[in-house]
Amino acid sequence: MNRDEWYDLARDLDWTLSYVDEKQAFPDEWTGAGAIPSSAWKDWDEPFRASYREYVRVQREKDAGAYAVKEAFKRARGFDRLDPGHQAAAMLHMGAVAMVEQMAVHMEARFARFAPSPRWRNIAVYGMLDEIRHAQLNLSFSHDLLKQAPQFDWAVKAFHTNEWGILAVRHFLDDTLLGSSCVDSAVVTNLTLEHGFTNMQFVAFAAAAMDAGDVGFSNILSSIQTDEARHAQQGFPTAGILARFDRKRAQDLLDASFWRSLRLFHLLTGPAMDYYTPVHLRKQSFKEFMTEWIVHHHLRVLDDMGLAKPWYWDQFMLSLEHGHHALHLGMWFWRPTLWFNPCAGVSRVEREWLVEKYPGWEDSWGVLWDEIIRNVNAGNMGKAYPETLPALCNLCQLPLGTALDRHHLRPYTTTYGPRLYHFCSEPCQWIFGLDPERYAGHMNVVDRFLAGQIQPMNLEGALEWMGITHDVMGNDAFQYRWAKDYAR
Ligand code: FE
Ligand code: FE
Repeated sequence: MNRDEWYDLARDLDWTLSYVDEKQAFPDEWTGAGAIPSSAWKDWDEPFRASYREYVRVQREKDAGAYAVKEAFKRARGFDRLDPGHQAAAMLHMGAVAMVEQMAVHMEARFARFAPSPRWRNIAVYGMLDEIRHAQLNLSFSHDLLKQAPQFDWAVKAFHTNEWGILAVRHFLDDTLLGSSCVDSAVVTNLTLEHGFTNMQFVAFAAAAMDAGDVGFSNILSSIQTDEARHAQQGFPTAGILARFDRKRAQDLLDASFWRSLRLFHLLTGPAMDYYTPVHLRKQSFKEFMTEWIVHHHLRVLDDMGLAKPWYWDQFMLSLEHGHHALHLGMWFWRPTLWFNPCAGVSRVEREWLVEKYPGWEDSWGVLWDEIIRNVNAGNMGKAYPETLPALCNLCQLPLGTALDRHHLRPYTTTYGPRLYHFCSEPCQWIFGLDPERYAGHMNVVDRFLAGQIQPMNLEGALEWMGITHDVMGNDAFQYRWAKDYAR
């Protein structure tokens, strides 16, 4: 029989339970079906018609290609010759993303067992195998480079530490990849994060890595993206059905996850695109890429489902101009707390590019860099390092003052139970308010510091607590050579 003759029958294979009832085998906490009646799931459909035999054949070819390129790149010792900015981007990616792929294995496995439709459970098995492949590819690539750069140890290590940026990544992704129902995870992860945002990390980064000469990294990213494009499709039918039966829940989930994804990409992708990528290799700014690939697309998705634009749209547009510049400045200034060497990316040529792409850049961020440059050139290095911790948001875990521009630094506060919570922005405060019990018990790095969990209570104690060792501790990628531009 050819595939089309048996496919629909095979993927709808299901049976009537006799030893337990339906609710015991598929508890609502796991499926997340809520107000959606079970009859609605017969409409769940996705466009990728894959059989196991085809899946294995195609994946085998992809893996053979990716591992061959990886081997050649390793033998040529290509990584040593790359621009330090690109090296930083690769180290940041591997530390922050390799274990996220492993977390995605668990999410897809949860769909394969608990999703409320046999079709969905069937396709999720491929998604789970995809994510195993991604985690292994990232780890294998990182392992190849260990002798050249100990920072790649963080591909495994990062998620077992208290490094502040990793805690921010985990706060969001533990929540959606590990701790949510099938319906919530599919809307937040498959639709918003994978279909929307990771395009940017995988497509734009793959192109930039290829231009920078990092053939191995580029190849791995592209190979992963072909899988993501397929299994991310689980998000659309799920969100569509949810929107039909519980419009408010669909809107809230999409609005919350869009903002949370943005904050994550402010941290990981924005600095890599607009500061670490060598300026002559940049094709689009973070903002341009976001606008073309994500903003229009997301609005179309909402419109198709009869949902509204997020209520915080004006703040989002302002945040797109500023959030990643703020976080880049913070990451660079607190560079000993990173596991790689960030580049400042503010030489005169780079600064011209920044101002051209972001007309408000000088007013909010240039003034702060000028202060750093003055101290570096005067040999006042003590003042070019942090002495304190920044106040952090109790939702996204990122510093207050990094969501908007320099003229919108007001923290938002909520009293819940016995304590006061601080937020970097109104959307973060709103997300906390959607389900305060879910977030109230979590302590951010500053909360833990004040509770005495970090000893001794200074930078050294904080670095030890974050797992930062001297062989990886971040310093300026170009040994401050860019600051000389301004001394003349
Ligand atoms: Fe993946
Ligand atoms: Fe994925």
